[in-house]
Amino acid sequence: MMNICRRRLVRTWDRLLSRSIATEKKRRPLDERSGWEAVIGLEIHAQIASRSKLFSGAATDFDCSVNSAVSLFDCASPGTLPVLNRRCVEAAVAAALALNCRLRTVSSFDRKHYFYADMPAGYQITQQRSPIAVDGHLDFFAYSADEAPVAKRLRIERIQIEMDSGKTVHDLANRRSLVDLNRAGVGLIEIVTDHQLHTGLEAACFAEELRQVLVHIGVCGGEMQKGQLRVDANVSVRRVGEALGVRTEVKNLNSFKFIETAVKYEIDRQYRLLSEGGQVVNETRGYDDEGRTVSMRDKEVRQDYRFMPEPNLPPLRLSDGPSDDPNVVSISSIKQTLPAALADKRRWYIEKIGMDPLVAIYTVNDTARMKFVDDCFADKTCPPIESMAFWLDEYRLALRKHKMDFSTE
Ligand code: ADP
Ligand code: MG
Repeated sequence: MMNICRRRLVRTWDRLLSRSIATEKKRRPLDERSGWEAVIGLEIHAQIASRSKLFSGAATDFDCSVNSAVSLFDCASPGTLPVLNRRCVEAAVAAALALNCRLRTVSSFDRKHYFYADMPAGYQITQQRSPIAVDGHLDFFAYSADEAPVAKRLRIERIQIEMDSGKTVHDLANRRSLVDLNRAGVGLIEIVTDHQLHTGLEAACFAEELRQVLVHIGVCGGEMQKGQLRVDANVSVRRVGEALGVRTEVKNLNSFKFIETAVKYEIDRQYRLLSEGGQVVNETRGYDDEGRTVSMRDKEVRQDYRFMPEPNLPPLRLSDGPSDDPNVVSISSIKQTLPAALADKRRWYIEKIGMDPLVAIYTVNDTARMKFVDDCFADKTCPPIESMAFWLDEYRLALRKHKMDFSTE
């Protein structure tokens, strides 16, 4: 059995190598319903790993008691002003470099107005008109337990820096809502992708790779169950060759499984509607944990966010080369601090250690396991490279037997 799997993986890898990622144009038709295809684009919010918030000195560790990590600015006390956190800018620059984006040496901030109890100022500061980075891409593998890995590339439209909102807790028993502002003002990077994905699996695999890249470069903690990475999936269905269909947006997906299931559900729902002569309504939908998406609010009347330039923040300037100015973030200095790209590490494991491609993907997707492998290489008493793949497999099985994992000291 093991041998059959191994042979299948090796064949898969040969196929992957013989096909250039950039020239991979083939579109997967929508399952067996040929003639139709699904189109998916993602908006990902990643919480920046920083000690203080984007525009205030309040702490970002909100395991503390409710409303205790809140500065006067975070609760929109009159007269307070935003002070941009340098660490957040550096994190956005690192993310942009890792995602092959073009950094813009001048970008700016805007106010996006909407009324929510957990956003006391009545607006969010974001980078609507002039984002910090545009036009990147990320290579990833679409794979599952029973689908061999296929190399893909997704274009990234833009990366912008913005602040998070607070949290509203609905206390249904007492018919009241409570607001916790600990999260209000925490720095986020929003990553908007092009709509080049076609299945729920692809969307989930892309999100997984993106999460891993952001964790790897130290920009985001990546803990999805804590809301550190949240994905909105835009989904539409069309006949192949026709113009884009009307899309829906499934909000706040916080696990890869949810992304895959929600997108699949949404594709099926829209396909059924369209093939019966119905129409898809442009709306925001939520995911209900039972594998379904449900309508949340109508987007047909486009919400007017009344965007305006943020008057209390000057343009954000970056320098291309080194800079002595303590107020200027240097792109080239950050580039020097970035670790080796995950894609390069994966290739190295496969080519130098002889790891199965799927095992290499799993290794890179598990920070503890990757650290373990790298530590082994640094340690001269470890087995030689040639026997490494075998040895790692044995070690993994032994760990599993004792219910441990690679992070166990
Ligand atoms: P909005 O202003 O409503 O947020 P954007 O133009 O910023 O819209 O696009 C948001 C996301 O939706 C992007 O990832 C984009 O690729 C994707 N998208 C846009 N149109 C479609 C469509 N018809 N089907 C699927 N995804 C789409
Ligand atoms: Mg958007």
